[in-house]
Amino acid sequence: MNGEFQDHQIRDIIKINYRYSMGGQSKFFIELMKNKRLLGTKCTKCGKTWMPPRINCSDCYEPADWVELKQTGTIEVSTIVWYTTSAFIKAIPYGVGYIKLDGAETALLQGIFSENLVPSKLKKGKKVKAVFNKERAGKMTDFFFVPIDEYERWITKPEFEGGV
Ligand SMILES: [Zn+2]
Repeated sequence: MNGEFQDHQIRDIIKINYRYSMGGQSKFFIELMKNKRLLGTKCTKCGKTWMPPRINCSDCYEPADWVELKQTGTIEVSTIVWYTTSAFIKAIPYGVGYIKLDGAETALLQGIFSENLVPSKLKKGKKVKAVFNKERAGKMTDFFFVPIDEYERWITKPEFEGGV
């Protein structure tokens, strides 16, 4: 028997219950969950409208007020996802992109789903509209975007619904 170190390992699972705060952005998540409203913020000084919302304007550092935005927008840039985490594996392939909601000056990174996912559906400049999960938890995954010509079909699916 030699004195070489042998590491003995046992596979196990650690479960951790925890909670985290959305802080100043909480209103966005509460309105999303309870009322299917998409809130951005508008700077009180320069007037820039932020989505995702900024509590203070990232350009001039002044406070921003909450404003409701339309649920339609335009794809700024996108890609199709083939490799993902366990949370989204059943959805692949799906799109993600930066969406500029109508009325906002910045873009939101969000999922884009399509019944016929081909690159031309996700091209820059394509119009999309938000679809909401019927069961919402106040998370970014409570909603996603679809090409605007597919919207009526998506909101008739049993697990989804349209916004306000
Ligand atoms: Zn500003």
